[in-house]
Amino acid sequence: ELETINVFSVATGHLYERFLKIMMLSLTQSTKNPVHFYLLDTYLSPGFREEATILSESLNCKVTFVSYKWPPWLRSQSTIQRRIWGYKILFLDVLFPQNLKKIIFVDADQVMREDIRELWEFDLQGEVYGYVPFCDSNADTLGFQFWREGYWKDLLGDKPYHISALYVVDLEKFRDRGVGDILRATYESLSRDPNSLSNLDQDLPNFVSNQVPIFSLPQSWLWCESWCSLETKVESKTIDLCNNPLKKEPKIDMARRIIKGELFEKSWEEMDEEVKARIGDGLVGRESHDEL
Ligand code: UDP
Ligand code: CA
Repeated sequence: ELETINVFSVATGHLYERFLKIMMLSLTQSTKNPVHFYLLDTYLSPGFREEATILSESLNCKVTFVSYKWPPWLRSQSTIQRRIWGYKILFLDVLFPQNLKKIIFVDADQVMREDIRELWEFDLQGEVYGYVPFCDSNADTLGFQFWREGYWKDLLGDKPYHISALYVVDLEKFRDRGVGDILRATYESLSRDPNSLSNLDQDLPNFVSNQVPIFSLPQSWLWCESWCSLETKVESKTIDLCNNPLKKEPKIDMARRIIKGELFEKSWEEMDEEVKARIGDGLVGRESHDEL
């Protein structure tokens, strides 16, 4: 029997909700394993909850909406964007059912090209979590990689700075080693300075990586055009539509441009249409069921 793969994701706003449905489609269609999505309930729209439920029935996967009240003793964040980043990393020990052993976080704006099972079965060699190092094969943006010198370079030494768009978490080790407490205490102290943790969910695990080491996943497990060379796109197992520091292109245009062509069984637009059709069919099915 195939093991159920648990996937955590977060979204807020219509655009990211649309991306999230496409992520769910591409991920479930590229694996044979059963998939159980855990989505952060707090910032989702009611319409999305209904659509995601219908879509999950159509895709034969499970969806659970999870939430956790931001503790009053932990410094709050004034923007939704930063609260969401906090939820990505700060409460992994308390957000999910306590019997859950492992989970993979996947950004909403991702398209999976390969079977996520490979990632699920990765030996993290005793570490609590695995992240992918930032690509450095795109020479155009190398100058924006602030961690290559100064403060971050001194902190990390020879270790890479990892990207937070996807990561595998061994929840048992995470709880056993009290990593939630370490992350929250570090967050509390760093966030006293409003200029610190500018990429909260990414800076935090990198910052504590001397205390809580990160297992480095293979580069092919996170391709994004902004930081990786075009030659390596063919090896990409998942594609994130991460922002490009050099150009302000709307993510939806990025999606249409990047997710198409011979590397893809379905283009982004085809997947977008398929999601709509599946939800439409599901709604019709429900209405006719109600009439009985
Ligand atoms: N996110 C969201 N709504 C937003 C911005 C971000 O839901 O308006 C969530 C979403 O899950 C997204 C993640 O935060 O995938 C990280 O943000 P984004 O992908 O925009 O960052 P980037 O990959 O460009 O660094
Ligand atoms: Ca992203």
